[in-house]
Amino acid sequence: PEMQRSVTERMSLGNELRRAVERQELELHYQPIVDLANGHITKAETLLRWNHPERGYIGPDKFIPVAEDLGLMSKIGDWVFYQAAAMAKNLMEKRGPDLRDNPVQITINKSPRQFFTGNTHETWVGYLHQQGIPCESICIEITESLLMNDRPEVLQKLLKFHEAGIQLSLDDFGIGYSAMGYLKHFDIDYLKIDSSFVRGMEREPSDHAIVEAIIVMAHKLNIKVVAEGIETEQQRALLIEAGCDYGQGYLFSRPVPGNQFIDLVIR
Ligand code: C2E
Ligand code: MG
Ligand code: MG
Repeated sequence: PEMQRSVTERMSLGNELRRAVERQELELHYQPIVDLANGHITKAETLLRWNHPERGYIGPDKFIPVAEDLGLMSKIGDWVFYQAAAMAKNLMEKRGPDLRDNPVQITINKSPRQFFTGNTHETWVGYLHQQGIPCESICIEITESLLMNDRPEVLQKLLKFHEAGIQLSLDDFGIGYSAMGYLKHFDIDYLKIDSSFVRGMEREPSDHAIVEAIIVMAHKLNIKVVAEGIETEQQRALLIEAGCDYGQGYLFSRPVPGNQFIDLVIR
């Protein structure tokens, strides 16, 4: 009965999700990423939300796997990109010419399966050029499992993004295989230290040591570091002491709708 229930639940979620895309129930929220040296918002991560008419907000961990199984993720992923690009352009215009060279970078999550089909590396880059949006104002967050993958076309696509000037960030670093070899082969711009290490830093000397080591290693490889899930002042202080570049977490801001994010940046 338990399995039956979970299969039925997934099927109904799937059917509703197909409609959700048409009915525009998906929303993109923005979580600020701050420069730890001065507290300025320099980036934001886009995070998908499904605003379900009866169930309220449903988180991405729950519906993205369903979307992937149904083959809906490339359509949703494109939508995320066009929203992100529009936000980058909007901010660029609102902040005026003085800050042109210093754009607020919008990061988007892209799961491995979104690299298997389609040619987003061409359409996305083409769109940015056509709209006059600098490619540097978009960053793609990937996970380690993508780099472990041996499909040559995936790596080719990553390279194309990077050559165009779109930056790459390695998400949830430290909890996967952490096979360091790929840091040498791929031009990664940022490592995002997984929130589990940040959470443990205050009490667990081993978590603290791992965070420090990741930062030193990344810097030697010319990679900047973002710490995820910062919730306390003490975590922020320890990360600054360890030389971490950027921070993201509830201490600074929760993910917020686009209009609220603009207010945070422009105020
Ligand atoms: P992620 O990319 O690692 O995103 C960070 C997650 O940590 C987000 O969860 C965010 O809301 C949460 N978070 C941020 N700061 C804090 C904090 O201080 N404390 C705590 N406890 N949590 C914090 P969320 O929004 O539920 O997203 C979960 C995952 O879903 C993301 O993990 C990402 O892998 C995936 N995801 C979200 N949006 C997209 C998308 O547009 N496309 C794809 N492919 N995946 C997405
Ligand atoms: Mg992410
Ligand atoms: Mg993460």
